[in-house]
Amino acid sequence: MAEVELPVGGKAALSHQGLQALIEALVARGYRVLGPTVRDRAIIYDEIATIDDLPAGWTDRQDAGTYRLERRADKALFGYAVGPQSWKRFLHPPVEQLWQARREGNGFAITGPEKIASKFAFLGVRACELHAIAIQDRVFTQGPYHDTSYQQRRQDNFIVAVNCGEAGGTCFCVSMNAGPKADTGFDLALTELLDGDRHSFLVEVGSVLGGEALAALPHRPATPDESAAADAVVAHTARRMGRQLDTNGIKELLQDNPDHARWDDVAARCLTCANCTMVCPTCFCTTVEDHTDLAGQTAERVRRWDSCFTLDFSYIHGGSVRKENRSRYRQWMTHKLASWIDQFGTSGCVGCGRCITWCPVGIDITVEAAAIRASARGSREAEHGGT
Ligand code: SF4
Ligand code: SF4
Repeated sequence: MAEVELPVGGKAALSHQGLQALIEALVARGYRVLGPTVRDRAIIYDEIATIDDLPAGWTDRQDAGTYRLERRADKALFGYAVGPQSWKRFLHPPVEQLWQARREGNGFAITGPEKIASKFAFLGVRACELHAIAIQDRVFTQGPYHDTSYQQRRQDNFIVAVNCGEAGGTCFCVSMNAGPKADTGFDLALTELLDGDRHSFLVEVGSVLGGEALAALPHRPATPDESAAADAVVAHTARRMGRQLDTNGIKELLQDNPDHARWDDVAARCLTCANCTMVCPTCFCTTVEDHTDLAGQTAERVRRWDSCFTLDFSYIHGGSVRKENRSRYRQWMTHKLASWIDQFGTSGCVGCGRCITWCPVGIDITVEAAAIRASARGSREAEHGGT
């Protein structure tokens, strides 16, 4: 195959082995390559060395409170939707040391957090996840205070997106304008093309860095048929979304209904387990803990993911502000879909569906929003003499 350098927006065809060459090229450039792999009967993100580490021939079946891996009839490498983890796990880790103090003589030596040793290459980033990363970029790096740890982890990333060929049962990225096609925020974007025994990828260049990386790989110009086939893959996925969310006026809808009876209804089902916030790719709240060892030689301060579903999260001088399940669920959903817009200029939800799949009692943000909309609209119609 001839090597053809491509500009941003250019498209090329890459073979199955070309993808292996991409992984090797990223490792050679000093990246720690992270991608999807199967572990504990789920697709998780971890270090990968070859395409053999990818979840070939697996798909996921998802519904409210349900996640199952199943075998596919083909050998698709990216034939699943999203698993329980997001890239937040690497950019904003669940537990992170802020500093450590070690006893030395009559005093202490303080050391800061460890430097991030390697730069990340993320392989298999979905469109909704690109939007989630952009949201966390805004939260951590574009406000008045910058999170230096996130900035360090985020700099020099190489992102290989994958356009979705399967919509998960709980996905609603189309409603949130966040997928299923990667539109921005990637270096290269792949669409997996399977046609009988032929297995290849259409690659779109998203950055100069991506174009340079692709130029060093065996590739050829994409044919019009391959471009059309890739468009058909994402169009097919968009038509098969598992869920929908009507976002029309949703900020006003939720902010105008803090006493809606549906908050009591959902509170009766919610376990306040915080699963929904742990799996959400945009949730960013943390708490700070101090630990000392039993011998009194070292002490450390760590930052740990926290959640608006815990009682302690809203604890201030003598009590928690949000004592009831109702107020905690309302806080989470209203923040995601409404006050996040006031705070950061976008919705806090990208429609990945993880909070629905991983809720142990199957609470569904799209169903809760629709229920509030249905009765709020009914009451407005009643006020205006409607039926
Ligand atoms: S909505 Fe579901 S996942 Fe979230 S806290 Fe309640 S029970 Fe847990
Ligand atoms: S609120 Fe739910 S659907 Fe929306 S981004 Fe978070 S986990 Fe995904």
